[in-house]
Amino acid sequence: MKFGGGCLRDGRSVAQACAIVSAQKPAVVVVSAVSGVTELLLTAIDQAKRHERNIPPVLSALADRHAGVIDELCPGRIPKKRLQGEIAARISRVERLLTGIAFHGDLTPAVRARLLSFGERLAARLLAGVLESLETRATALDADRAGVCTDDNFESASIDRGRTRRLLRPRVAPLLRAGIVPVIPGFFGRGPGGAVTLLGRNGSDYSAAAVAYAMGAERLEVWKDADGFMSADPGRVPTARRLERLSFAEAAELSYFGAKILHPRTVEPLAGTCTRVFVRNMNDPGSPGSEIVAGRPGRAVDVAGIAANARLAVLRVHGAGIGSKPGLLAGVSSTLAGAGINIHSVLTSHTCINLLLDPTDAARGLKRLKSATNGVIKKVELEENLALVGVVGERIMEKEGIYARIFAAVARERINVEMAAAGASPVACYFLVRKA
Ligand code: ASP
Ligand code: MG
Repeated sequence: MKFGGGCLRDGRSVAQACAIVSAQKPAVVVVSAVSGVTELLLTAIDQAKRHERNIPPVLSALADRHAGVIDELCPGRIPKKRLQGEIAARISRVERLLTGIAFHGDLTPAVRARLLSFGERLAARLLAGVLESLETRATALDADRAGVCTDDNFESASIDRGRTRRLLRPRVAPLLRAGIVPVIPGFFGRGPGGAVTLLGRNGSDYSAAAVAYAMGAERLEVWKDADGFMSADPGRVPTARRLERLSFAEAAELSYFGAKILHPRTVEPLAGTCTRVFVRNMNDPGSPGSEIVAGRPGRAVDVAGIAANARLAVLRVHGAGIGSKPGLLAGVSSTLAGAGINIHSVLTSHTCINLLLDPTDAARGLKRLKSATNGVIKKVELEENLALVGVVGERIMEKEGIYARIFAAVARERINVEMAAAGASPVACYFLVRKA
């Protein structure tokens, strides 16, 4: 069972999460940081780089965020004291790391990853402590020590599911047999050399799937403070429906295109297994949520869902004959990769390469590519006014007329399609329109 930051917001929501765990154990629990804590740690890093005196206020904010929940929830004095002590011990490690950054003025990716992992480490202690005080035996087990194994990418690592199973299972299974709920922090693991690596923002979902794989779990339940996968963002589309079932590929594509419900890589570690995957609403535990299935979901409608993403920038690389110059695309992408910039998607023609990037990478990408202009590349431009709409469904590439319906619907609203891509995934297509 995985609980996201939105489920760990205050005393009431933590109590609700604990009630769900107690009712369903035996279970292994994976947690995100308490809501807002990862952001707080990011601020802490910025502040520490500026000056050492900026550290204490962030540390007290971090302490208060957790103390508030403990005060509201732990009835017994002894467990409460012990839990407060455990939290304080971890916050003092954060303090030491931040002081190091303040002195050094800079930080390595390894230190940054270690520091950001503390949001989840704290949340795991917190949840285990509250479970204990409610008389459910539980113990927090740090993910790097428990054996969540990854490659050596510090910012967005990939799970090594084979190694994770070999290491984690022998450590976790005995706890379960003894009737203890293991609480494992999500979001990070250990690289090949043992250093802390991060699984990318919202990566705890992905951690949970790795743990489910390692344990050969019957089911993975990802608990959220939302209904599950929806046919569209209910904030924008009042008629949006909950999807009862969707395929692994549909879940991955919807998440990739901007449905904020699940990390896009969540289901990867479970490929080829019989583990059932559910996304469930903590505030409505009677509802089955959405089930993500390995095969075809079997659905009457062609389109499962639509997601949009306005946090996007497009780099346009212009030049005559771009489409017939061997190695050009390789040059462009290795220039960006060299700067640690991820390309979300590429659309090319004879005269232009369009690269879809995260907006936080856009300015750097533009600078890098401008300095790389050569005989073929004439101009590089940044376009920040576009948003992407992704349309996802298992049958989308198989059935005639679906595209016609999509684009006709957009045209009826007098919206121009600036770019479009289809066929890259058998279950999805996307197009770009003006943000407005
Ligand atoms: N706490 C991390 C984040 O905010 C990971 C997660 O929430 O899953 O990105
Ligand atoms: Mg989060």
